[in-house]
Amino acid sequence: MSVSIVWFRQDLRLADNPALQAALQRGGTILPVYIDSPEEDGRWPDGAAARWWLHTNLRALEGALKRQGSRLIYARGPALPTLRRLCTESGADAVFWNRRYEPAALERDRTVKEALRTDGMLAESRNGALLLEPWEITNQSGRPFLVFTPYWKQVLKQCEPAQPLAAPARMQAPPKWPNSLSLDDLLPLPVPPWHRSMASLWQPGETGAAARLQHFLNTALPAYRDARDRPAVAGTSTLSPYLHVGAISPRQIWHAVGEAESARGRSTVEWRSDKFLAELGWREFSHHLLYHHPHLPDAPLRTEFSRFPWRDDPQALQAWQRGRTGIPLVDAGMRELWATGWMHNRVRMVVASFLVKNLRLHWLHGARWFWDTLIDADLANNTQGWQWTAGCGADAAPYFRIFNPLSQAEKFDPDSEYIRRWVPEVGTPAYPAPIVDLSASRTEALAAFQVLMAQRAMAAANVE
Ligand SMILES: Cc1cc2nc3c(=O)[nH]c(=O)nc-3n(C[C@H](O)[C@H](O)[C@H](O)COP(=O)(O)OP(=O)(O)OC[C@H]3O[C@@H](n4cnc5c(N)ncnc54)[C@H](O)[C@@H]3O)c2cc1C
Repeated sequence: MSVSIVWFRQDLRLADNPALQAALQRGGTILPVYIDSPEEDGRWPDGAAARWWLHTNLRALEGALKRQGSRLIYARGPALPTLRRLCTESGADAVFWNRRYEPAALERDRTVKEALRTDGMLAESRNGALLLEPWEITNQSGRPFLVFTPYWKQVLKQCEPAQPLAAPARMQAPPKWPNSLSLDDLLPLPVPPWHRSMASLWQPGETGAAARLQHFLNTALPAYRDARDRPAVAGTSTLSPYLHVGAISPRQIWHAVGEAESARGRSTVEWRSDKFLAELGWREFSHHLLYHHPHLPDAPLRTEFSRFPWRDDPQALQAWQRGRTGIPLVDAGMRELWATGWMHNRVRMVVASFLVKNLRLHWLHGARWFWDTLIDADLANNTQGWQWTAGCGADAAPYFRIFNPLSQAEKFDPDSEYIRRWVPEVGTPAYPAPIVDLSASRTEALAAFQVLMAQRAMAAANVE
């Protein structure tokens, strides 16, 4: 009987898993595999928080597979030789996986597919992570989009996501299991065990994702448009960590939203054009950008920003990282991140703006810190979020739009509930004085930006 490997990556679920479905449709037995392969990360290997989150979600997938009478085989090493070895050990003649879009993973997957096919194997990939593939959407001149609003309009026109696939009822085990590492060998848990407090906040796996989605649909979705900007309330879905590891798919979310909204009497036209789905749209857009501009994680889309006069100030960077800047909303956000592995989107924008504009530190310092501390750290979304805030990306907030963290707090945290939750010593002598004058640093940032724009204009005039 044939053996098909299902190579799990960022699709750690059994329901709505197109690669698993394709393997099942082929018939025969299924060998589920997870490989820790360094070449897929390029210059962005998973940070500490993301590795813990991956560990706990792999454990959940392992449990789900066990309940099906199956297992999850763990291996470490470059993907191609590892897959070849697993095929030899198990007699598998096919490998199925869902696609990833980070440049290094894409490149690696192309090589693996070609090489396995040359070996005479069946090697197939599917879309399990996005509503539409990045190459399926183009503007009227056939080019990728650089601005979100027309991009999302086009997606909504083109996109009719199929109903999510059900989880298989049973999965037949292969006649021979290959050797496996243990999960603790593959991805050891942190020592000291800082993850314990996070573990109490985040229930992993498909069960955790489904519970969060259901809670959001029941409680927060109807008021999402207004509540989404208030960090003190649970006004957003908090599904980003689950989307990142693929414990849930955007298609499952899309249809669940549709059902909940239809049950409330809202028409398809109404709910499809809502703010919440547009946020999923930003996730799609970020992947579209990363796919078409693979250099973005390390370099600005607007190339003139590579000459921006960033400051070098390790002490200020450390104060920002530790939530000790003396600016309450910034410190609250940075402490929420450290304690929970997640930060509210409004506050992400505020802390990022403060770093790149008031402190004038390179956005890559911020992107790297987020990368190490977020459990939803995602190369497409993180890069887009940082470049957007720094003003150097696609559809960017212009550099001269500088968030004032004090007025942002007045507007979005009017009772200081969020600030007091994370910075209880605010207003006491124990709280540090601001490390920077907001008004003077704003003026300096604008002046630096004007020099940059003048240089750009001169360069353009010289070309003409
Ligand atoms: C500087 C900066 C860095 C960021 N880094 C990341 C990151 O590493 N990983 C990540 O998933 N998101 C990142 N974001 C986007 C956003 O802040 C989070 O996706 C959001 O806060 C997650 O919370 P939620 O699931 O409750 O979102 P909801 O409001 O419930 O939105 C639903 C889903 O839509 C997607 N989404 C929402 N907002 C955005 C956005 N602005 N860009 C892309 N996708 C979005 C997420 O997948 C999210 O789970 C970043 C934003 C900024 C400003």
